[in-house]
Amino acid sequence: MARGMLERYDVVDTDVLVIGAGGAGLRAAIEASKYNVDVTVVCKEMLGKAHTVMAEGGYNAALGNVDPRDDWKAHFMDTVEGGAWLNDQDLVEVFVKESPDRIFDLEEYGAAFDRTPDGKLAQRMFGKQRYPRTCHVSDYTGHELVAALVDEVRRRDIPVMEEVFISKLFKSNGRVAGALGIDIKSGEFLLFKCKAIVLAGGGAGRIYKITTNPASATGDGKILALEAGAELKDMEMFQFHPTAMVWPPSCRGILVTEAVRGEGGVLLNTKGERFMKRYHKLLELGPRDVVARSIMREVLEGRGTEHGGVYLSVTHLPPERIREKLKTMYRQFLLAGVDITKQPMEVAPAAHYYMGGVKQTVWGETSVKGLYVAGEEAAGLHGANRLGGNSIADTQVYGKRAGEAAARYARQAEKQLVDQRAVEEEQRRALSFLKSSETRPAKVKEAINETMWENAGIFRTEEGLKRALADLEAIKSKMIPEMGVSDQGSRRYNKEWIEALEAANMVRVAEILVRAALIRTESRGAHYRLDYPSTDNRSWLKHIVWYLDGGELKYRFEPVKITLAMPPGVS
Ligand SMILES: Cc1cc2nc3c(=O)[nH]c(=O)nc-3n(C[C@H](O)[C@H](O)[C@H](O)COP(=O)(O)OP(=O)(O)OC[C@H]3O[C@@H](n4cnc5c(N)ncnc54)[C@H](O)[C@@H]3O)c2cc1C
Repeated sequence: MARGMLERYDVVDTDVLVIGAGGAGLRAAIEASKYNVDVTVVCKEMLGKAHTVMAEGGYNAALGNVDPRDDWKAHFMDTVEGGAWLNDQDLVEVFVKESPDRIFDLEEYGAAFDRTPDGKLAQRMFGKQRYPRTCHVSDYTGHELVAALVDEVRRRDIPVMEEVFISKLFKSNGRVAGALGIDIKSGEFLLFKCKAIVLAGGGAGRIYKITTNPASATGDGKILALEAGAELKDMEMFQFHPTAMVWPPSCRGILVTEAVRGEGGVLLNTKGERFMKRYHKLLELGPRDVVARSIMREVLEGRGTEHGGVYLSVTHLPPERIREKLKTMYRQFLLAGVDITKQPMEVAPAAHYYMGGVKQTVWGETSVKGLYVAGEEAAGLHGANRLGGNSIADTQVYGKRAGEAAARYARQAEKQLVDQRAVEEEQRRALSFLKSSETRPAKVKEAINETMWENAGIFRTEEGLKRALADLEAIKSKMIPEMGVSDQGSRRYNKEWIEALEAANMVRVAEILVRAALIRTESRGAHYRLDYPSTDNRSWLKHIVWYLDGGELKYRFEPVKITLAMPPGVS
């Protein structure tokens, strides 16, 4: 136990610190452990509970098992077209070429994917795919994936520190030096001293009122990276999944996997029309942004259900196929009193996936020496709209690469000293929320959620975005400093304290999202401006990149990396 001026803390020494135990973090840790360095994983929930475990429909790999015409080139084109050409093509090329090998790694770790009758990995259709490409384990693929990764982490004896919240990264001499955490179980501080960090903190869906994401998706990592000197990009690009449950209210936002449409599910309005015929040639399997907007248009034009949704029906499919291929969906709706083999599901869009995040190279490098990123933490691969099935594959391809790069770096880097004053400053900030106040974290989160859902959601306008910005600025300047918790006496399992720290991150993520959405005066992928409805490839084939300059948030533009395929209308 070391003693700072302010507070005691335990010190954990390691070479590579992996923050996050989802698909990306666990894969990074496995890879890093192969390079004879000490690796430690931390996560803010219990091991095995990360968001990745919720992934349902599958993992994209161009294996061509079901349709031999599929190959990496087809996967590449689907990904960049689906991403509305905002994808960095160097990232996409590596991804589509390596994702098949990474699924074989998962099999080696023990994941048992569904098979074709001749014993190959089965593949289903997902949105915006020209050939069936999505490997799956019924509709609980993420569960199988995480179980296999956890087993491999245990086989390799990689220490995992569960329920530790990381609140700050430290740098010295321009390089990563460590991180400060709070052990949620004891409420004590932990100082991690390390040479390299792989940040794999996942998404930020919880900034929106209605989301498929778990409570942990609060965008902490994006703010940790920004403050450490890394850059964020494409922060305006937040994907709304077309189909989440709307009824009963307690189920609002629970995902209805794209696999339902992949298996043949059809979308119907209250007039019984298969309305996607009006919106996209691929019907229900059009890109997610298009399907989500089409559903909302049906609702806004009065052809939606009384709960603000539309119907998704699989009643024309054989019941035994539904029960086999859509096990989770069958059970999920049965609990809500709907037998999907006989009745349609009621669905509406919900905030689902953050394409925006930390700027990375093909090795997960950031602009900070020793800091690497992977998974939903990172940006650039999915462009303006991620394809279903590309995310968990992303966690494996770029998790492996970031783990390898971090370990190689750590092997030759010197350990840096952590500045004691910086530690104390962060302790002081964290402890400042342990006060009595009417402004509780839940209230702050609710205020963020309301304005983001109302003003920065599927349809955006300058007026709405400005309203959101004003709300967020008020939350940041007034509510956050005031925020306190109900129990100031005990720090053990004081989840409200951790929520306060999360809320402080969420408002900053939301603010950058809104600022970026105001700047991008066009519509592209998931970012749809009613006042600028066209896509403008002449002026807007560029990223908005965010960074801190002397503590002040600034941005610059950076061209999209185009290496293999030219967007339409651009020569
Ligand atoms: C319901 C649902 C279904 C989905 N289905 C699919 C699918 O079928 N196919 C697909 O490709 N994608 C799917 N996705 C998306 C996909 O699951 C995620 O994008 C992906 O799993 C993210 O993995 P990750 O490793 O980047 O992050 P996560 O799995 O979110 O892990 C993040 C980790 O970071 C830790 N962490 C975060 N902040 C801190 C902090 N401050 N301190 C310490 N630890 C921290 C968390 O504890 C967690 O361990 C789905 C998403 C949802 C919500």
